[in-house]
Amino acid sequence: MAILTIVPNLTTVGNAFISLLFPNQCLVCKEGEFFSQDPICLDCIQHMTPLPIENRVQELTVNDGIDIAFSGWDFGDELRTAIHSLKYEERARIGFFLGKLLGDQLHKNTIQKLDYLIPVPLHPVKFRDRGFNQARWIADGLGKAVQKPVRTKLMKRIKHTISQTTLDKKERLNNMKKAFKINQDVTDKNIGIVDDVLTTGSTISSMASKLKDAGAKIIVAITVATPLEKKDDTYAESV
Ligand SMILES: [Zn+2]
Repeated sequence: MAILTIVPNLTTVGNAFISLLFPNQCLVCKEGEFFSQDPICLDCIQHMTPLPIENRVQELTVNDGIDIAFSGWDFGDELRTAIHSLKYEERARIGFFLGKLLGDQLHKNTIQKLDYLIPVPLHPVKFRDRGFNQARWIADGLGKAVQKPVRTKLMKRIKHTISQTTLDKKERLNNMKKAFKINQDVTDKNIGIVDDVLTTGSTISSMASKLKDAGAKIIVAITVATPLEKKDDTYAESV
């Protein structure tokens, strides 16, 4: 049996050795080499402003259907500018890494109650233009950290949302709900909805309300960042 306890140690030693031979460069500051597999250096991580892990649902402009809202960091200029400039594969690595980092900080007991995670889906047209869904990578990293499955096909966007300017609050929510379709039974499920940036909460709220209408029990909104200064939709989806 001794060999079983030795094997992980050998793997760790091996990884450290590989890191020494091929040092990484931080994807955010592009400066300095460091000997870890992480895409962001410690300096850059320390420059991000972590938020206390607490329920922020009351801070949202729109929170129907959402029971709990968690966000990891302040979405300040530095984080936004740095991450916005990344290439496709780099964004994927950073998204996964930030999701994992966030998962390590979240209250384990709240997260443990979840049955699975859903990334906020992009509309197919937008997906075709962009070629990626950042929320998916974050959900994958988060799911790995908290050991929860990620369901990417459970909820889809089915059409662009029509102009909402003439609608009142309730009509807006109903209108937004029509933009999503649920493909599986969600009765009594506790679900985490994952996105990059939390602003007004309107997108996650419309998903949450739709899931609640279909029988879901608890909905937790989990995002990497939220701008502390200003809450409007111009920040949305810019990570
Ligand atoms: Zn850095």
